[in-house]
Amino acid sequence: MPFIELRGLVRSYCVGGEELRVLKDVNLTIEEGEFVAIMGPSGSGKSTLMQILGLLDRPSAGSYRLMGQDVSRLSDDEGAALRSKTIGFIFQMFNLLPRTSTLDNVILPMIYSRAPRREERARELLADVGLQDRIFHKPNELSGGQQQRVAVARALVNRPRIIFADEPTGNLASDQAGDILRQLKLLNQAGITIVMVTHEPDIAAHAERIIRLKDGEIVSDQSRDGGRDGRTAVKAPPRTRAAEPVSAAGLTFAQFRENGGSALRAMAANKLRSCLSMLGILIGVGAVIAMLAVGQGAQKAIESRISGLGSNLLSLRPEGRNVGGVRGASGSVSRLNDGDVKAIAALPGVLRVEGNVQGNEQVVYGDKNANTQVTGVTPLYESMRNSKPYWGRFFTDAENRDQARVALIGTTVAEKLFGAEDPVDKQIRVGRASFRVIGVLPKKGSGGFRDQDDVVLVPLVTAQKRIFGQPYLQTINIECESPEAIAQVLEDVQVLMRRRHRLPDFREDDFSIRNMAELQAALTGTTQTFSLLLGIVAGISLLVGGIGIMNIMLVSVSERTREIGLRKAVGAPRQAILSQFLIEAAVLSTVGGVAGILLGVSVSLILSKFAGWAAIVRPDAVLLAFVFSAGVGIIFGFWPARKASLLSPIEALRYE
Ligand code: ADP
Ligand code: MG
Repeated sequence: MPFIELRGLVRSYCVGGEELRVLKDVNLTIEEGEFVAIMGPSGSGKSTLMQILGLLDRPSAGSYRLMGQDVSRLSDDEGAALRSKTIGFIFQMFNLLPRTSTLDNVILPMIYSRAPRREERARELLADVGLQDRIFHKPNELSGGQQQRVAVARALVNRPRIIFADEPTGNLASDQAGDILRQLKLLNQAGITIVMVTHEPDIAAHAERIIRLKDGEIVSDQSRDGGRDGRTAVKAPPRTRAAEPVSAAGLTFAQFRENGGSALRAMAANKLRSCLSMLGILIGVGAVIAMLAVGQGAQKAIESRISGLGSNLLSLRPEGRNVGGVRGASGSVSRLNDGDVKAIAALPGVLRVEGNVQGNEQVVYGDKNANTQVTGVTPLYESMRNSKPYWGRFFTDAENRDQARVALIGTTVAEKLFGAEDPVDKQIRVGRASFRVIGVLPKKGSGGFRDQDDVVLVPLVTAQKRIFGQPYLQTINIECESPEAIAQVLEDVQVLMRRRHRLPDFREDDFSIRNMAELQAALTGTTQTFSLLLGIVAGISLLVGGIGIMNIMLVSVSERTREIGLRKAVGAPRQAILSQFLIEAAVLSTVGGVAGILLGVSVSLILSKFAGWAAIVRPDAVLLAFVFSAGVGIIFGFWPARKASLLSPIEALRYE
């Protein structure tokens, strides 16, 4: 069984719509242990032949058997695995990874072949080629001859059975060339098959068999010791190979580290570009977090305002003189009274009813005074309107009945009149009467129209008799049993009030009923829309950031196409290339994302501190933004990464 056997091999390219046959019907057999030189004028197809032999390229027709196995139709990854195990390459242009140390360059093929004791082996081989004191040098810190010796060491790390060298001395001075040739000879003596392309006769003279190509055909095939047809005896004993089980599945830790490392090296080499693409993600994530925080803050503010209104509430008011216009002119002013409260309370579906009066009054404490809204309420107000005092107590039914002169004040009033002083049990003057402060109301925040904490609450009867001097009610608040009962109660109250006011059919209502639940729903809906809009705007900026990353990744892929080709040539499977670029994209977007989180949180803090906006940063928003940004990087990085992984090794190596 010959080591290499080509039968009727054809390789043609399609150039400008025409078929160009570069190799025409090549038949060739090479035995294990031979040292073959392929010669011929430039353009005769030497490199093309060698690339097919090295499984970097596929024949257009004909068969290629390597070690008895038909390899002309191998898949990408099968080819990579076979290259990794059996084949070493030495190129004219050295093709070392830039920005990567000698040692790491030599280790690279072992990472893809998953060989053990990598560093030890790489150091050994570098010592063999005389570079033991250059292991941390980068390729641009080495001479051409030294770089080619690194390439020789790299070709050997996986103990190949054959080495393909395409003009290995083409870029070297003659003394360095001699050096490389000596190395190749030694390897051949150790039993490794060598196939070397060259166009210099004195270099080819080192080989034992010379094959000449012309216009894609073999024109001569001579062995030095006189053998014809290239059949020289195999001198080397079969080598014992270290058995290394190669499994194709999964990414090893070493591969992951290599991929991460190369991503970081690539980013470090293009700092400005990396920073700019991170900036897109940074702004996107920052915007998402800040916008969500602002939206959340607005929602919270509205919610607390709404909960201050109570739940399932209807609010009944008389139509004022000025509201009705024409009706006002007719002189009819409707009024609400305790009888209405009792009648409404008796309706089905009604839980509690509370009537109150209010007006603006001057309140005075010592030498301080304030104009504020004074509201007369019953003790029901406390629970119906979520107004449990956070200092002191609410007044009782007895106090209301007895017209007690006690008052509860809102925080704004407390600040205006008392400052740091404890208001409880102090006497204040409201209008002409004197009141004792028995509590401070909970903070409700500024409403849409006025400060809800700028209030004084007094018992209803006290307010009617001693402050406003009239027995009517201005508002009747009706609490329904459930949200479902609201509509029916609303209708019943309307019918009831029309009857009580003896309104004939042709007259309009002389009162209005507001559904507070509806108002609440409308407010909540508005803030949700607001948050959604903010989120969409922020999401768009994140998307733009993602496109920026994709752009950079595409540049990065095309810039490193040759590197991808090299990695594939030394045995990188598709998945390794894919993960390398995905990691790069993920690192870009995660670093950008983390910076964006910091930015977003600080902007939110600054907004809530200095601009007085309520901004609430929620941990789930931070998590969302982070996951999203990493996702954006991976999704937008995927396409370029896939593009890179699908490149054929030789196309990538030839890329300019
Ligand atoms: P050499 O013997 O100098 O190494 P090559 O094998 O590199 O020659 O190329 C042989 C011929 O094939 C050349 O004429 C070249 O123009 C052509 N060729 C090589 N690669 C391609 C390609 N990708 N597309 C079209 N023609 C190609
Ligand atoms: Mg060539």
